[in-house]
Amino acid sequence: MRIGMPHMGNLYIPFKALFQRLGVDFIIPPVNNQHTLSLGVKHSPEGLCIPFKLTLGNLIEAAELGADTLIMPAGYGTCRLGYYAKTQEQILHDLGYSFEMVPVGVSERKLFGILEMVKRLSNNASWAKIIAAFRFGLAKLNALDKIERVVQKVRPREQAKGTANHLYTEAVKAIDQADDYKILKAVQTEYIDRLNQVANNGHSQPLIVGITGEFYVVLEPFSNLDIEMELGKLGVEVRRTTFVSEWTRFSLFLNPLGINEKDRIHKAALPYLKRDIGGDGWESVGEKVLHAKEYDGLVHLAPFTCMPEIIAQNIMPKTKEDLPVLTVLCDEQLAKPGVLTRLEAFVDLLERRRRARNNHQRILV
Ligand code: SF4
Repeated sequence: MRIGMPHMGNLYIPFKALFQRLGVDFIIPPVNNQHTLSLGVKHSPEGLCIPFKLTLGNLIEAAELGADTLIMPAGYGTCRLGYYAKTQEQILHDLGYSFEMVPVGVSERKLFGILEMVKRLSNNASWAKIIAAFRFGLAKLNALDKIERVVQKVRPREQAKGTANHLYTEAVKAIDQADDYKILKAVQTEYIDRLNQVANNGHSQPLIVGITGEFYVVLEPFSNLDIEMELGKLGVEVRRTTFVSEWTRFSLFLNPLGINEKDRIHKAALPYLKRDIGGDGWESVGEKVLHAKEYDGLVHLAPFTCMPEIIAQNIMPKTKEDLPVLTVLCDEQLAKPGVLTRLEAFVDLLERRRRARNNHQRILV
């Protein structure tokens, strides 16, 4: 059995560690690139959202590399995610690939759905072996997310532009190569130390911009043209609440106790939106309300034609909480120069607002 799965950020690293420890052949397709997107676009119905197109491109590339078992997230939600696996399976069969599609119900069974899938794909390995392999994958996931959080803070403050990105790329590679806990811990400590020592440009209070929107486009830099890095280059500190390690922590320990990580954010959205609308639309509205006092602005990432995010986009301007929101629609037409121009204009607006607010406070004093 040769397993393949689509990309979403660095998620392939913990999965690779997990499957390697279980002795399962895991095929990693090339990280998302223009060819992946072209493949996905060519074989997808035109109006589908970009997560569908990119993941289809990954699955085609994995099948080309010999994967005969394809894992695909699925779910019962209100949006089209529930149809992804079935539709992609049909498209791949029509293209002549021979494989078994393994849909993983992430919305219903959460992490336990993933563990059950691993049990089956590892030829019924013992639970002790699966849990041990899973723990190591989780340790890698936590290390990746911890370092990424530090990178978000260092980028806007670094003197030599690109230093944090360079260290981040090195760290991701080192985490991928670490084959025991001791090395992994040492890599994490080393890179966090090095990032904290990056020479500062003297801007101690950069603008703070939150990133919200649909889960996939928030976590897959190729789909959003690496918007976090671009904001960092413009001297902006990015804050994001969506991390896979957070989802895992809640799914594993807190959800079974009845604690839902999204309760607070749903409550914040309630005056404007009273129910789940699929995907992450409810959360996008809640993020604006919840962080209006803490952030200078919010970048809302929405796949083109994504119904939940279109609803959120239309509600956000009407909340009484005042926070500028820039919605970026992600699809295959998104181009770097256009995004950069919009980001520069947005940052300029936020700087003016902050200056005006500071002047106003000075007058009051
Ligand atoms: S949330 Fe939006 S982008 Fe994501 S699967 Fe649903 S419709 Fe597509």
